[in-house]
Order: sequence, then C-alpha cells, then structure tokens
Amino acid sequence: MRVLVTGAAGFLGSHLVDKFLALGYDVLGMDNHITGNPANLEHLGSHPRFRFANQDVTRYIEVEGPLDGVLHFASPASPVDYLELPIQTLKVGALGTHKALGLAMAKQARFLLASTSEVYGDPLVHPQPESYWGNVNPVGPRGVYDEAKRFAEALTMAYHRFHGLDTRIVRIFNTYGPRMRPNDGRVVSNFIVQALRGEPLTVYGDGSQTRSFCYVDDLIEGIVGLFERGTPEPTNIGNPHEFTVRQLADRVLKLTGSKSSVVERPLPIDDPQVRQPDIARAHETLGWEPKVTLEDGLRRTIEYFRDVVAREGAAAR
Ligand code: UDP
Repeated sequence: MRVLVTGAAGFLGSHLVDKFLALGYDVLGMDNHITGNPANLEHLGSHPRFRFANQDVTRYIEVEGPLDGVLHFASPASPVDYLELPIQTLKVGALGTHKALGLAMAKQARFLLASTSEVYGDPLVHPQPESYWGNVNPVGPRGVYDEAKRFAEALTMAYHRFHGLDTRIVRIFNTYGPRMRPNDGRVVSNFIVQALRGEPLTVYGDGSQTRSFCYVDDLIEGIVGLFERGTPEPTNIGNPHEFTVRQLADRVLKLTGSKSSVVERPLPIDDPQVRQPDIARAHETLGWEPKVTLEDGLRRTIEYFRDVVAREGAAAR
C-alpha cells in the first residue's frame, strides 16, 4: 500500500507520515514549506519506504507509480497563518483539493480531506455534531480558511457522488503536541513557549471562551481509523473535554512551574465563543475515542518545547 500525504512537513502531516510508515505503508510526502518545517521529517533520513517532493499542490500534481491513498493535509492552519496568507489558504483549500482529488481519481486511490471544526464557525449548536451546518462569516478574516474548507468538503462529496470516488472527510478539532511551531500563534504553543521563556501568557479577551484540545497521537489514531475503515460522511475527530482559555493558562503555569503573569489582549474578530466535538459518529463507526488526558498531553508537549526553547537560547548566545 502506498499513500501520498500533502502538507507532509506540517505538524499533523509529519505525524501522519510517521504513523503510516509504522503501519508498513510506502509514503510519498509533499510540501512547499510555506508553513511546513523540513525539520519535522529529518528523523526519517533515507527511510526506504519514504520519499519527499517539494511541491506546491495548487499546481498540477504528477506522481509516478501506483497510489492507494491521497491524504490532503496541506494548508496554513493557524489563525495567525491564514491572516498572513489569505490567498494561499483559499488556493490550497480550493485548487489544492481539486488537484489532489484529480490525482486520486487518476490513480483510483482513496481520498481523505483534512477538514476542520472551523466549518462550524462560531457555533450556535453546542457541542457540534456533524449534522450542524455552522455559523460562518464568509467575508470575515477567518472566512478564507473556513470557506476554503467548506468548499473542499463540497468538492470532495461531488467527486464521491458524481465520480464514485472513495472519500473521507475528517473534521479536525483543536489539536496540540510536539512539532507545533513555537511561533505558530495558537493558544497551546503560545502559552507553553511564553511560560518557558518567563514572558506573560497572552489571554485573548477575558479568557472565558472555550476549546477542547486533542493530543496529536489520539487524533492520528482516529484519522488512520477513518482512512482504513470509515465512511464518506464527514467525521469529527477531537477530544470532547472542554475548558476555558483561562483554565488552560492556569494549567500550563502549574505544569511548567513558571512564574509568568497572565495578561489580556484583544479578542480576534469572529473568534468562536465555544467549541466541543460531538464524537458519537467516530465512536460508532470506528470504535475510536481519545485516551490521552490533558495533563499527560501537556507534559509531553512541554518537554518538546523545553528543547526547542533551549536550542533557541543557545543559538542566540
Ligand atoms: N488565544 C489566546 N491567547 C493566545 C492565542 C490564542 O487566548 O496567545 C485564544 C484564541 O483567541 C481562541 C483560543 O485561544 O479563543 C484558541 O485559539 P487558537 O488560535 O489556538 O485556535 P482556534 O481554535 O481559534 O482556531
């Protein structure tokens, strides 16, 4: 079995590559390193079942040889990134998905789209089941990501219905773990890096907004399950354990032992007030549920960032 992972040098893409290699697959990774980091794949060296191609997937994708799966994970995915890269975000969600679907068709391969909880926007239904259509501002700053992913879902279903392509759509909720970038801008990486550097933790708004964070290993397990034995319906994968941003700040301070203060900063436009996945579908169809507690997941992530911050410190000296 041979799969293509687009966005292979990214946080999730690189973990997915590792998992497929561990399961015995041959893997072709693709990335243009706009937000991906080559260091995330360095440990693979010259792994006999891994190949990498530096390529922008919004252009025609050419792959020699057979493929059994195409997993489309290329996209800026942090709010900070898609504010800085609005056009690229729209292009990779729309044109990139089109190219990846076309390739899957040509190879008669299964296609899996990395979609997002952002398709629910600032949700009026809580927790969010897959049947909820969402509350998205199409012309707001987050619209570039949300609408690209909504279009990508529509395109994936069109290829499934019209061409009979075997497809999967995973709606990924907030995920954290090693290989997030220190300057990624997302809340878990920001808080941990700020705590480790002794800088103030930046809570946006009053910190009463909620999120539900899934440890990366749990997420990857769910995605591979969906790819191997799931159905074409969109499937939420995430951890339903919900807490406020303020609670997260307190937990990070406790686990790092940091003396950093907590400061409030303006809430970004259209920042969802609440978010929690309803994971009944993943549970019923895949028998999947997350296992790693927030405490354990944060410990492992803090360990990773301790190294990153120490290396940065050494480089600056
Ligand atoms: N957030 C925060 N401080 C930060 C970064 C983010 O309070 O330094 C908040 C952000 O406003 C949002 C939540 O944390 O309410 C999660 O933000 P993130 O960017 O991680 O992901 P999102 O769920 O918004 O896509």
